[in-house]
Amino acid sequence: MDQLTKSSAYLDQVPAIIIVTDSFGDIEYVSPLFTEHTGYSNDEVTGKNPRFLQSGLMPKAVYENLWQTILSGRVWRGELQNKKKTGELFWEKAVISGIQNDGVITNFLAIKEDITAEKQLRDELIASKSLAEERDRLKSRFLHNISHEIRTPMNGILGFAHLLKNPHLSKEDMFLYTDIIRMSGERLLNLVDNYTLISSIEADEMKVQITPTSINELLRDLYATFNPEMINKGLLFNYSISLSEDESVIETDGGKLSRILTNLIQNALKFTSNGKIDFGYTRKADFLEFYVSDSGIGIPEDQTENIFKPFYSIDSILSSGDDGGGLGLAITKGFVEILGGSIRVNSVEGAGSNFVFSIPYCPVNTISHLLLTTKTDEFFPRSTLCILLVEDDSTSTLLLEQMLKGENITFLYAKNGFEAVELVEHHPEISLVLMDIKMPIMNGYDATRRIKEQRPQLPVIAQTAFTAKEERERAIQAGCNGFITKPIKKSELLELMKELILN
Ligand code: ADP
Repeated sequence: MDQLTKSSAYLDQVPAIIIVTDSFGDIEYVSPLFTEHTGYSNDEVTGKNPRFLQSGLMPKAVYENLWQTILSGRVWRGELQNKKKTGELFWEKAVISGIQNDGVITNFLAIKEDITAEKQLRDELIASKSLAEERDRLKSRFLHNISHEIRTPMNGILGFAHLLKNPHLSKEDMFLYTDIIRMSGERLLNLVDNYTLISSIEADEMKVQITPTSINELLRDLYATFNPEMINKGLLFNYSISLSEDESVIETDGGKLSRILTNLIQNALKFTSNGKIDFGYTRKADFLEFYVSDSGIGIPEDQTENIFKPFYSIDSILSSGDDGGGLGLAITKGFVEILGGSIRVNSVEGAGSNFVFSIPYCPVNTISHLLLTTKTDEFFPRSTLCILLVEDDSTSTLLLEQMLKGENITFLYAKNGFEAVELVEHHPEISLVLMDIKMPIMNGYDATRRIKEQRPQLPVIAQTAFTAKEERERAIQAGCNGFITKPIKKSELLELMKELILN
């Protein structure tokens, strides 16, 4: 038995992946575990350089370091990502060294262990640790941010509400103060909406409403909306469309697309003092690529990734005191991704920014589109509609009444669930119930359950300031046919009423 054969007999028993090469690095021996693991037989690899195992994914510097170490007589320890005969990738932990005879390297010996599973676990742990750290940073940024963002409009509301008490106030001042209070309220509401949106994006709970949407129409509307502000600021404002009217009708969530473009145009407007703002789209194969470009302050190169993170704002004169709270772009990015696309920004600091995003191009059959968008002229064709308003807060009742004024509607009122059930029992003319949820004596859920026992077909719309998904589910379980969140938007309410009454 020659030396190598004898050594091989021993090495065969070692429970490790072993490779022995000659001094040129060509394989002389591989252990049975090597074959079992990589799929290469002894005969296939003998005489070859183990390079054939390389995945091509390791940096060149790793091999340079490996060779330098073993040629200088030291032991190299490290991790390598290699490839099996089947092409499958795996990670191994390797100890490689030269075998010397009289001070001359005659062979190289590599002893290896597969660590793919370990490595995967380690990577997952690292990823979840950095995710947890990122969440932690986000939470601190959130707490810091929320306090500032709430205090500022609150200051306006409380301060001017106090000033309004002055009996000698001029009419102009009164209008000015109520306007400031309204704007501060809207700002707070916007903030709450944004927080809610970002948390549902992060919890993966955001729903999409795919409907036929005319992109050209949407762009024209946005142009008309923003043009007065652009003129005011002395900016040139242009938009470009690249598909015909028919081709531009696609299946997408038009509300979200409009919000994405609105956010980007608002930002462009905010960060541009002179020059121009352009927006538009082009078709690129199966995608529509939209852009919003400006000649504003631009974004430093090292910040172009960060600006899409929640609560991130770059301090600048133009953004200070602004009401965005650093959520605009995070929501924008979330929406683009929900629609199946991606977003990026190209920017030169001081020269301007170009935000580009793509969404899938799914054209709609034109005829079905026309059928879908045909509207009835009359909102509620019935002569008179009787609605039961169930609401304990008189301001909210008044608001609902004002919203529905002029819609051929008569009202009945209940201040709690109990009164509502009684009224439904005695008034068969009631054709819809607007039901508050949080009320004294009997809440909206219980009242709806009782009403549905009496008149299962009577539509009930729950109206509540709670936006959580569970609230919606509870309302639906109680028998509500629709759900509307406070503050109620007239268009949304009418749309929902129309849907429930006309169906
Ligand atoms: P905010 O709501 O505070 O504006 P966004 O998420 O919309 O936050 O934007 C984050 C930050 O990105 C902004 O504070 C600003 O620094 C930068 N940014 C966004 N759009 C532009 C733009 N068009 N030009 C320059 N900077 C921009």
